[in-house]
Amino acid sequence: MTGEENPLSSIPVRRLQNYIYCPRLMYFQFVENVFVPNADVMEGKGIHQHVDEPDLLPEYPVAVENGRKMIRSLALSDPELGIHGVLDLLREEQDSWRVFDYKRGAPLRNSDGTVRPKEADAVQLCAYVMLVERNGWRISGGSIYYAETKQMVEVTCSENLRETVRQTVDEIRALAGKTMPEPLHGDVRCLFCSLYPVCLPEESLFWKRQKKLSGVLRPPICEEPGDEVIVIQSPDIYLSCRGEMLVAARKGKSVSTHPIHRIRSIHLFGGAQFSTQVLHLCLERHLNLSFFSPAGRFLGRLDTLSISGLDSRHGQYRYAENPHLALMITREMIAGKIQNQRTILLRNSKRRPDSVLAELKNLKQQARYAESAEELLGIEGRAAALYFASFPGMLTERSFAERFQGRTRRPPRDPVNAMLSLGYSVLSSEIAGICASLGLDPACGLLHVPRFGRPALALDLMEEFRPLIADSVVVSLINRNEISPADFLEASTGCGLLRSGHQAF
Ligand code: SF4
Repeated sequence: MTGEENPLSSIPVRRLQNYIYCPRLMYFQFVENVFVPNADVMEGKGIHQHVDEPDLLPEYPVAVENGRKMIRSLALSDPELGIHGVLDLLREEQDSWRVFDYKRGAPLRNSDGTVRPKEADAVQLCAYVMLVERNGWRISGGSIYYAETKQMVEVTCSENLRETVRQTVDEIRALAGKTMPEPLHGDVRCLFCSLYPVCLPEESLFWKRQKKLSGVLRPPICEEPGDEVIVIQSPDIYLSCRGEMLVAARKGKSVSTHPIHRIRSIHLFGGAQFSTQVLHLCLERHLNLSFFSPAGRFLGRLDTLSISGLDSRHGQYRYAENPHLALMITREMIAGKIQNQRTILLRNSKRRPDSVLAELKNLKQQARYAESAEELLGIEGRAAALYFASFPGMLTERSFAERFQGRTRRPPRDPVNAMLSLGYSVLSSEIAGICASLGLDPACGLLHVPRFGRPALALDLMEEFRPLIADSVVVSLINRNEISPADFLEASTGCGLLRSGHQAF
């Protein structure tokens, strides 16, 4: 087997740093191929991009000076060390070279006020130094530039540190063949970890050792909103790439540009066009490219084989095959959905439907103790009937409220149902994309039965979010007069949104 065929024969240097920070983080990224860029990661990328642009470098080191050579973004590998990586900067000294690495954060502070590098950063830098030496350069040492404090910190590549590098490589190889390690418990590192929303350390431990852990689960930290979802609804829009920008153009004229690193999803309705480069970009960066019919029906999404996520899928199938485990989760989903339906009614109803609110509260409790999936579906159905019977009471515009006679699908029979269907369609595509990007199988649900072309897991997971995301958008569009009956096309075959309705939505 060649080095290229066996990924364990050469470990990326970056994974050494991940492993020292948290073995589970390394496992997610190296074995499961799951990445979630957070603000830290994006800012870190920015700093590394500056290394490739001498004019934009932070104050030290600056571009080539005094005739000294500098080599940036140098890719190296060594089969004997079993590592490869791209180091930020190699700078010529008098009769040797020095390795530089750039970090976003700050170094550690000693009690006497001096600073030292973080252990994970020092191991990474030492690995680069060893790589450069093995490739024939004479090295005088290495330094890390911490952007937050603008400090250059020297790293002493002692024999001990070099031994840590070798041991870390061995430990990563050993761990990669095993199952995913348990999360850290009550550790501050988790709060700064980009994978917190995927790893869910407290929740994962709770489910693993249900009887042994007690106490209230802390909710995950939400990322700053900033992920863009691009929605293209006009057939005369053409989407293409220009450098690091995605460009939407009409008749050759640019109408909007979007930095690629900010984009999470692209939704194309009807006949919107795009270039092959956009297709490649979505595959390479795991962006969710979803296709909808002109009426808003979710048709499917672009998928790639490159995500591993084997561990996640094993866990998912284990739960799906065990009705008892599946019920533990689905009870919470449905209880959450009923709770959110009740919250939306409480927030928006003009006259408080007290008996409905009381019954929803009661049904939420019943959902938590349902003894079978059938019983749970019965409770969910009863709650949905009550909720949608009270739905018109939340709408201030009578023409919409009077037409709504309960939930109708395939086809929706009135404007409110048309908007609800569109909202659920977009939500299911978003959640199907998130499931796939985490290595989960969108087709294997716990509550919704798998069926050809049906994202059953996405339908399960969106239950709780339907009222909060889709329903509340519909209610506020109507109540703020942002949409009118003229934005809909009604026919004997059903009701759908016109282009103006899609744009308002
Ligand atoms: S959230 Fe915590 S346990 Fe999970 S990968 Fe990150 S650091 Fe490790």
